[in-house]
Amino acid sequence: MNSQPVRVRFAPSPTGPLHAGGVRTALYNYLFARQQGGQMLLRIEDTDQNRYVPGAEEYILDALQWLGIEIDEGPQQGGPNAPYRQSERKEMYREYAERLIQEGKAYYAFDTPEQLDDMRKRLEAAKVAAAQYNAITRTEMTNSLTLSAEETKARIDSGDPYVIRMKIMPKEDIRFNDLIRGWVVVHSSQIDDKVLLKSDGMPTYHLANIVDDHLMGITHVIRGEEWLPSAPLHVLLYRYLGWESTMPQFAHLPLLLKPDGNGKLSKRDADLGGFPIFPLEWTDPVTGDKARGFREEGYLPAATANFLALLGWNAGTEQEMFSMEELISSFSFERVHKAGARFDIQKANWFNQQY
Ligand code: GLU
Repeated sequence: MNSQPVRVRFAPSPTGPLHAGGVRTALYNYLFARQQGGQMLLRIEDTDQNRYVPGAEEYILDALQWLGIEIDEGPQQGGPNAPYRQSERKEMYREYAERLIQEGKAYYAFDTPEQLDDMRKRLEAAKVAAAQYNAITRTEMTNSLTLSAEETKARIDSGDPYVIRMKIMPKEDIRFNDLIRGWVVVHSSQIDDKVLLKSDGMPTYHLANIVDDHLMGITHVIRGEEWLPSAPLHVLLYRYLGWESTMPQFAHLPLLLKPDGNGKLSKRDADLGGFPIFPLEWTDPVTGDKARGFREEGYLPAATANFLALLGWNAGTEQEMFSMEELISSFSFERVHKAGARFDIQKANWFNQQY
């Protein structure tokens, strides 16, 4: 494992306002980094150009600042790993994807959307649950594993669109020890030959995230539970790139649940319940609709941070009111809950009255 000084990152995609879950992820990263005398980076993961929402990055920065979450390196602060927007690091990711091809750990794939659609239908008919390119079709599709080297080169030279896929090879259990969930074990046959480089030349989340975490010296990846299913693929990717010995430790945080505990808290709950789930008010750039924010509704930043910190974590004592300094000194992964945390706005109101 890693014995480097602690470095964590908050890596949002600028696809809209951060909701409470995203802010809590940023907060836990911050608490842990400060407690360990480490550093916290902000990295903007903007490789999905279709989902990019103007104004989202500024919103994220304002929200973190309002809550008192200080960033050591990032798009505004700069730092040795600049730039911190993935779209500005595009060429570098391609080099890693191509290196994997040379080493036989990835391949070019030229399948058209129609071919992929066909493949999906065949997999459904064959009841292959996790639609898997590698399950029965890798050897039948149009890729550099089935084409000759000359054919592959000719296709690339003629400008045929292609993606680069990771070649999942070892037939074995992939394991890692999550700081919150404990040992996670997934058999490699459950992992797909995921796309690493898209046809627009942009890396996918998986490739960019792993390359950056490595180059930025990240020691702990603290993020929402929705990324847990991707983690085994990431472990393999570290191995493929020869970076396993400095692989960060993972900590996957529990989901935030709706106030009644019924299902995951979503952005739509802001409308349904009429309560804020965003730190700051957000105006949709297309529709002009406004969603309420804790700040504009009169919640104090310290009360909001206190409320968010206790969504999925407790200090193991009777104490409920914590200053940021106290949160920093008492935070621990052992006391992060495994079960989802109910987003109880009454609790936020209570905190706000105490401050
Ligand atoms: N860009 C991802 C997100 O928006 C980051 C996930 C991660 O932290 O690895 O949540």
